Amino acid sequence: MKRRTGRGRTLLLLPILMLAHGCGTPGGTPRVAPGTLCVTCGMEVRDARYAGASVEGRSVRPYDSIECALRDLSTTNEPSTPRARARSLYLADYATGALHRSDSLWIVHADIASPMGGGLAAFLDRAEAARVADAREGRVMPIDSLFPPLEATP
Ligand SMILES: [Zn+2]
Repeated sequence: MKRRTGRGRTLLLLPILMLAHGCGTPGGTPRVAPGTLCVTCGMEVRDARYAGASVEGRSVRPYDSIECALRDLSTTNEPSTPRARARSLYLADYATGALHRSDSLWIVHADIASPMGGGLAAFLDRAEAARVADAREGRVMPIDSLFPPLEATP
């Protein structure tokens, strides 16, 4: 007769909930309140899902849409301007309406009713971006394809 020596298994259940995942940005993420005027087109920010802002020192330039951010930065972000290098861009995550640094986002160009009609929206989650792009006959683009890197990274 064989005897088994059952070895007790110990399950170490780690409290995963303890893994807090929020690290704040030192400079702080700008806020674009509804009703703020877009610096590019002068219209009010109505839908937080499309909003954005560029930050340069203490100056914040709010946008009602990604299209307006594009237009503003393409006209003011001249390489010869040293100030431009200190600028950073924040865009809203379409899913939540919260602003995030643009380099953490994906851009979807699709049949989306964005304020300026360009069909652009930004997403923090690439899978969500792909889902919306699929559903609305669009495509996912890396942010760099739209906005060249704004900050000098020597
Ligand atoms: Zn605008």
